[in-house]
Amino acid sequence: MGTITENINQYKASLPQGVKLCAVSKFHPEDSIQEAYDAGQRIFGESRVQELIPKQQNLPSDIEWHFIGHLQTNKVKYIVPFISLIHSGDSAKLLSEINRCAKKEGRVVDVLLQIHVAKEESKSGFYPAELQEYMASGQWRELHNIHLCGVMGMATYTDDQEQIVSEFKTIRGEFDKIKQQYFSEDEKFSYCSMGMSDDYLLAIECGSNIIRVGTDIFGERKY
Ligand SMILES: *Cc1c(COP(=O)(O)O)cnc(C)c1O
Repeated sequence: MGTITENINQYKASLPQGVKLCAVSKFHPEDSIQEAYDAGQRIFGESRVQELIPKQQNLPSDIEWHFIGHLQTNKVKYIVPFISLIHSGDSAKLLSEINRCAKKEGRVVDVLLQIHVAKEESKSGFYPAELQEYMASGQWRELHNIHLCGVMGMATYTDDQEQIVSEFKTIRGEFDKIKQQYFSEDEKFSYCSMGMSDDYLLAIECGSNIIRVGTDIFGERKY
């Protein structure tokens, strides 16, 4: 494994055109983020509000912070002032709360719809049928202070590549359906966020256009 700088350079050189890198810096110190920043990385992903707030305050202001973990409704207000993209829009209730806080703040916040396809209860998100129902309900049309920009999903943690591919294809399929039905005229609905350190190559093959990579750039996390 190379240095953070080498890893960032390698990703920049090897990712296909049109695929963005969200460098997942959760549990890693500010120095590590600064090193990646100095190598040209601007998008960083965090999954805990209490960790993100000081990092956002201490690090360069042109970082695009993405929130990727389960977001509790009572913490939304702390990140809404500055967050660039919330990948983990995992329930109708959370979307409404993000909208409410964004309105107070005078912002429109970009959010992805998180889809639950993995065979693990611990993962969150809308089940595909639930998501179709939510979209059909039209509730989201009332949320003028969020902008739905795509979908996010995770595959099951397994060695079974066929299962991973099948799950990624399901996520990409949901993206295509929703895009076609509701956002065909909206250029901003464009993100299919899939793929982490162990499976990002498969994810890209299945149509991911933003990958969320932590360990492969920053090393193992110390919890
Ligand atoms: C931690 C995390 C990642 C990054 O995982 P790595 O295996 O370290 O690349 C990606 N997405 C989400 C939602 C995460 O919580």
